[in-house]
Amino acid sequence: MREKVRVRFAPSPTGPLHIGGLRTALFNYLFAKKNGGDFVLRIEDTDQNRFVEGAEEYIIEALNWCGIPFDEGPVKEGDFGPYRQSERKQLYKSYALKLVEKDMAYYAFDTSEALDQHRKDHEAKGKTFIYNWHNRLKLTNSLSLSNEEVKDKIATGEDYVIRFKSPENEELVLNDIIRGEIKIDTNILDDKVLFKSDGMPTYHLANIVDDHLMQITHVIRGEEWLPSLALHTLLYKAFGWDAPEFAHLPLIMKPVGKGKLSKRDGEKGGFPVFPLTWNQSEGYREAGFFPEAVVNFLALLGWNPGTEQEIFSLEELVDTFTLERVNKSGARFDPEKNNWYNQQWLQLKSDEVLARLFAEELDAKGVSAEQSYIKQVVSSIKERATFVKDFWELSDYFFQAPTSYNEKAVKKQWKEGTPEIMEEVTTVLQSIQDFESSKIEETIKAWIGEKELSFGKVMPPLRLVIVGDMKGPHLFDIMDLIGKEESIKRIKTAIAQL
Ligand code: GLU
Repeated sequence: MREKVRVRFAPSPTGPLHIGGLRTALFNYLFAKKNGGDFVLRIEDTDQNRFVEGAEEYIIEALNWCGIPFDEGPVKEGDFGPYRQSERKQLYKSYALKLVEKDMAYYAFDTSEALDQHRKDHEAKGKTFIYNWHNRLKLTNSLSLSNEEVKDKIATGEDYVIRFKSPENEELVLNDIIRGEIKIDTNILDDKVLFKSDGMPTYHLANIVDDHLMQITHVIRGEEWLPSLALHTLLYKAFGWDAPEFAHLPLIMKPVGKGKLSKRDGEKGGFPVFPLTWNQSEGYREAGFFPEAVVNFLALLGWNPGTEQEIFSLEELVDTFTLERVNKSGARFDPEKNNWYNQQWLQLKSDEVLARLFAEELDAKGVSAEQSYIKQVVSSIKERATFVKDFWELSDYFFQAPTSYNEKAVKKQWKEGTPEIMEEVTTVLQSIQDFESSKIEETIKAWIGEKELSFGKVMPPLRLVIVGDMKGPHLFDIMDLIGKEESIKRIKTAIAQL
């Protein structure tokens, strides 16, 4: 029987989740659900200096908002907890010691001053200092010192770290589902610290131990972790454990030019890079994006379905997603395309739902209207909207008479004779019993014909006085909605004012 797929999203709580981190979470979620597996959230908080209050809650809220909740994690304990590394810290040292016993890791007592000095000396010679096979015997560690000296140093409480003894002269073959085979010469690797003098594991050790203990089958993470793959692969070998499969996702690139998308790009371009607002940075949620749109555009950042289809629900993504269709090269972030996704998702929402959202905005503005009325308004203007927050500007005239008239339009449409024509229009409107769009249209058209007037003399100024501008949907629909009395009132006000 095939083992159950288990993936994890393993953020460090050092701040808000960046859009790239959210995409990593999404791809993990999609892969898990596609394969009937588990999606685990693990908080990698071994670096207490970089811990940021509220970051974990933020991450959890962001995942929930997107509709991609985890199956196991903090506050949702499963069989492999705890899920915060800070709560597992007593566990890691024994693993580091196991490697020391196997002669695959060693104690190192070099002070940071001494290491700094080595770095400087190397720099002065135009070289880079790497702590590994070529110089480890000249440094202060359990490979260069006698057993007695080592015991002594530990007994007297001298600070030490545990370093991985990376192999000399080996060709290491790494496997990545997206990138294929990668060959590495182990001579370029340094002896990374696994266990720190403060009694905490480094990212590398904790990450490998936890992935193993949590029975993670696939590690799906950002490309920035690809350089760690060699060490991770060596660690699995050293422990004698089966390694999970790896997939490193392509970077998310700036909208223009080269380089990784940053918070500054968002500030400069006026678009969010965080799912939810964090401090002064507006999030996608607060900017008015639907979570469906965010999930949709994120999925297509670096993954392609192999068809022309662009709009995907989460369920469809789960059905179609495969790691094999993730691209190797960076994915350009396109804020305009993101808006387009929201516009598309807005059209897919029911008028009922949109009306409810719009009602909240109207409420905040102190505008009151019947739900059924709001729904009709929404139905006639939503086509032009990208966000619910666009609704008001597109439809204010449905809720209040114009307070001013577009000047240019007045110049063009309000001519000699117009007030008289408009006056007559009020009489015509008055005569309509069943005041309904097609009926109004029919009556006005018949009257225009009878009077041998032109459409251009009647319709544009009529729109101007009803709407205050030349915008909006079918004019007779607008009049139908605002009603006979209000339509006549607006025409009369304009005649008095213009
Ligand atoms: N804690 C790492 C991060 O912040 C996890 C990397 C990984 O998935 O291995 O992204």
